[in-house]
Amino acid sequence: MWTMVALLLDLASNGIVRAGPGTIFVYLLVMTQLTIFTVTLYLHRSQTHRSVDFHPALTHAFRFWSWLTTAMVTREWVAVHRMHHAHSDTEQDPHSPHVLGIGTLLFKGTELYAEACRSKELLTKYGRGTPDDWIERHVYTPHCNCGPTVLAIVDLALFGVGGMAIWAIQMMWIPFWAAGVVNGIGHWWGYRNFETADRSANLIPWAMWVGGEELHNNHHAFPSSAKFSMRRFEFDLGWLVIQMLAGLKLAHVKRVACADRKHPEYHAIKGPQHATLAPRVWAMTEYFRKVMLPAVRDETRRCGATPSPSLSLRLRRALADGGRWLTADDRVHLNAWIDARPCLRTLCEFRTQLAALMEQRDVDVGSDGLSRWAHAAEVSGIGSLQTFAASLLANTIATR
Ligand SMILES: [Zn+2]
Ligand SMILES: [Zn+2]
Repeated sequence: MWTMVALLLDLASNGIVRAGPGTIFVYLLVMTQLTIFTVTLYLHRSQTHRSVDFHPALTHAFRFWSWLTTAMVTREWVAVHRMHHAHSDTEQDPHSPHVLGIGTLLFKGTELYAEACRSKELLTKYGRGTPDDWIERHVYTPHCNCGPTVLAIVDLALFGVGGMAIWAIQMMWIPFWAAGVVNGIGHWWGYRNFETADRSANLIPWAMWVGGEELHNNHHAFPSSAKFSMRRFEFDLGWLVIQMLAGLKLAHVKRVACADRKHPEYHAIKGPQHATLAPRVWAMTEYFRKVMLPAVRDETRRCGATPSPSLSLRLRRALADGGRWLTADDRVHLNAWIDARPCLRTLCEFRTQLAALMEQRDVDVGSDGLSRWAHAAEVSGIGSLQTFAASLLANTIATR
């Protein structure tokens, strides 16, 4: 009798495996990384954006893992994320830190997600094409919470009562890193390679623990690309795994963005395998890089000898989007700085007109508005603007 009690007490405190801290650490690392891969490879890149297909057996393994470790339903995740892309950083975005506050995203990201999932309209409009077989209808969707319950029992059996702490970390992993950090900080802080219409940013060039999702601005620029890294110093762990799976014939990549920024046609390559930049993103990125930034640098150099209030990096960045996201005070400051510099004011006006034109669907060189804009740029007498106008026309012709 006492032996039995002692055995049960030992099992409760140490679990079946009697793991030490090292084993627990490795277990947590492997389990959380598998969950991250399930989210970024399966839910995000494959189901939401259709940039990669997986072997049916692997697809099902992802579905099972998602059920076991996250309780997330594929259709709901896909719908919420597609809605985010369709309305990024607007009132309709289910999780914009600029609308809801960064604190809300970091600490209540899961609640925002759950609230968005309650909208039947959202699920119908954005959740198409996700699994709808027997197991989805009878197990994964109606019993989504059973997965984490099973996982809790497994952790308890393996590690004893300490397994509950391990389980809690597993349960917090995706809500914190995906719903909080990527959805929140990924639209709040970081560097931008592309002038997308939203405020997406690359957090850092590499972050193994979020599997490539840290390159969020690249992803918003090329949503249908299976690969998120674009520059030489950026590393996408998810893409590395996709390549390995493709080598094993378990993955079929459907689209990849051309990563060579110096390639003369990196934005214009067309074909089933290439994700391309939207004309608006390409035009606004090039305009900022090749027209606005050189003009600001010239201005700074010119004023170098005389005392002149220089523009903070934040306000300089704001020239990329016309100060759209600045506070009223900052916008007044920026406008005053621009108004004192006629050449820059002209360039800002051209930028505003170009942005409005590029918002229109099917904009091409044949459109009166763009032709008029290019003509005005060519006679502006500003060298960088003239060069840009010529490349814009050439690019638009090439992509028609
Ligand atoms: Zn985003
Ligand atoms: Zn996405």
